[in-house]
Amino acid sequence: MTRRSLLMAGIFGRAPLACLDTKFSMLRNGNASRRYLHIHGDEDTARDVLRAHMKTHAGLAILIENSERMIPAGAGKLDPNRMWSREGAEKSLRALNPAMSEEERNAIHRRLDRDRARFLKALLPPKGGLLIAIHNNRGYSIQDELAISDEKALNAPAATHEFFLATHPPDFRLIASSPYNAVLQKNGPRDDDGSLSRLAARLGVRYVNLECGIGKAAVQREMLDWLVLNLP
Ligand SMILES: [Zn+2]
Repeated sequence: MTRRSLLMAGIFGRAPLACLDTKFSMLRNGNASRRYLHIHGDEDTARDVLRAHMKTHAGLAILIENSERMIPAGAGKLDPNRMWSREGAEKSLRALNPAMSEEERNAIHRRLDRDRARFLKALLPPKGGLLIAIHNNRGYSIQDELAISDEKALNAPAATHEFFLATHPPDFRLIASSPYNAVLQKNGPRDDDGSLSRLAARLGVRYVNLECGIGKAAVQREMLDWLVLNLP
């Protein structure tokens, strides 16, 4: 067995983690409660930064094995960061696959409900632990989040593509004292979009999303290092 398959067998003792037909790999370093997720396959900078980070930092990282943003879902596709609730997945399936029948969508939901439950068992940290998602953007910025945020800290107004989104007020307050941009979304809009931030807020899980422009590896590395050093 390779080291990686030994690690995976050690964690799950059976098939590797997957959502529908897309597999995820796991990188474990020590036993820390910290969890990391890379979910959008086309966000290469975030993947490289996270893989390098796990060589020197304790925790468990889950990374999508895909090179595209969307994952296959039956004959169609789905945004993997809209699959964290049935409601969000339904909206994403409808938006991306207007010709898909209700029967097809329901078959996908049945598989997704099982995969989501198993995935969350692996992904969610033990009580009080921190979950960090790492993303890249190509246009989206903190400006898009301000209207639906509870609080904001625009500490780097010239770098709106680089920001943290936190769900836990004490984490937000620590990040707000940094040189970086941040928003707090502890409730979020009533409308559930199926994103992990919405689920984390609902479950009371400490969640921080780190967003940086695609290609900004140095700043993303710096912000991730700052985060893990300064948050409990
Ligand atoms: Zn993303």
